[in-house]
Amino acid sequence: MTQSRRITIFDTTLRDGEQSPGASMNIAEKLEIAQALVALGVDIIEAGFPIASQGDFEAVRQIAESVRGSTICGLARCNDQDIDRAWEALRHAERSRIHVFLATSAIHREFKLKMGKQEIIERAVAGVRRAAGHCPDVEFSPEDAARTEPDFLCEVVEAAINAGATTVNIPDTVGYATPAHMGRVIRTLRERVPNIDRAVISIHCHNDLGLAVANSLSAVEDGAGQIECTINGIGERAGNCSLEEVVMAIRTREDYYHFTTGIATQRLVPTSRLVSNITGIQVQRNKAIVGRNAFAHEAGIHQDGMLKERSTYEIMRPEDVGLAQTDLVLGKHSGRAALGDRVKALGYTLSAEQLQTLFVQFKALADKKKEVYDADIAALIDEEIRETDEMWSISRYTLSAATGAVPKVTLSLKRGDEEATRELSTGDGPFDSLFLAIEQITGIEVVCKDFRVHSVTVGKDAQAEVTVEVAHRGQVFRGRGVSTDSIEASAKAFLNAINRVAAAGGKAAPKVSPYERA
Ligand SMILES: [Zn+2]
Repeated sequence: MTQSRRITIFDTTLRDGEQSPGASMNIAEKLEIAQALVALGVDIIEAGFPIASQGDFEAVRQIAESVRGSTICGLARCNDQDIDRAWEALRHAERSRIHVFLATSAIHREFKLKMGKQEIIERAVAGVRRAAGHCPDVEFSPEDAARTEPDFLCEVVEAAINAGATTVNIPDTVGYATPAHMGRVIRTLRERVPNIDRAVISIHCHNDLGLAVANSLSAVEDGAGQIECTINGIGERAGNCSLEEVVMAIRTREDYYHFTTGIATQRLVPTSRLVSNITGIQVQRNKAIVGRNAFAHEAGIHQDGMLKERSTYEIMRPEDVGLAQTDLVLGKHSGRAALGDRVKALGYTLSAEQLQTLFVQFKALADKKKEVYDADIAALIDEEIRETDEMWSISRYTLSAATGAVPKVTLSLKRGDEEATRELSTGDGPFDSLFLAIEQITGIEVVCKDFRVHSVTVGKDAQAEVTVEVAHRGQVFRGRGVSTDSIEASAKAFLNAINRVAAAGGKAAPKVSPYERA
């Protein structure tokens, strides 16, 4: 029997994942996801890029201070200011890691950094030393490693390990690698870097060719000990290696790989839903492991086989990934304990005070609709978390619309103790006029890129969930609103997006260009 090798799972949903257009999260949302990642059994949580903005710094600091059970990591470019700022955010963590990166490929050296090979090595060594002076756990990433000349990559990695790097991460920043290529890169490092035994080799793959999971598996097969990934595979462009897919491949094919991870796989579906609800990025139906159809057997011949023996067509059991067989239904007579149980099963960690607020909202909802499903509860919680730092809220509105007539709207918004009202008789329909009134009161103009209404659960009395995507000065913001009244849900969603613009200070662009991120 071969002894299984334990692979470290490094989750970067809160850093690389947040770089998905429109996926930016507030601090309360990031804390909620961080707690869920601990419950999932993630070894390391990359919580953000502290120097990028005050908001990023604050989020990393609060996660480091309050989340226990996983190592908390912060990203920094290879300079003193970035590294010191990262440490300032991380210093109160139970266990912290500083992740320093510097591009090494010829194309990045020449066009982005305008530095020679020797200068790159010196900079990398200085950065790793600086980080190692703060904390013993230091990760170094040669950005665009997959396109770096093998000889130079070996040289940089050896120098970084000598300077104190305990993990060397090999990013395929642009999603250019293929499985055999990636395996060869890792093999080369193991064969040619003399001190490679002193560090863990990590892999960070992007999905531009749809190969991120395959490339990551190939890298661990050739000796990498850590996989960097995100929930639902979100991230820059086509995203990152998907945590749920790579973890279930390792688990399902343990017979072949002989690897294990510390992931509690029954938490995969709840965590996936949590991240999808919070970011507003929906999971495609046919997505492996967590998609709605991932375990649906439609063909008659498959269903027949399944009834006789499940393993005929099923390589994983739905319960292994936390797909509940029955959607438990609560009603107006359900108590606080039953609600608390469902909240936990759904992957949320709420304080007694938050649970009490939720209980009141749950009772109000149960009065409006007979059956309250898991998705209804998740929608209530997500709205509560989202609203914690909302600048504006809706006081009331009246709206009239008729065939061939211009819609009329009167809207009042609250901001602190102040209230502002607008009356409009314009627009291409009720939603247009409502959104216009919101823009006029808040003074924030946006371009609406996407607007969707769907039902949270089944039945005519189901809650409507509205998601909107708006652009403001070149940046994308998402908003989400839920109500049994779809017009109210739309107004809430649009205002939620506007509040996010306001929270970002209407800032034109992030301080650190996305091209400078690993
Ligand atoms: Zn990345």
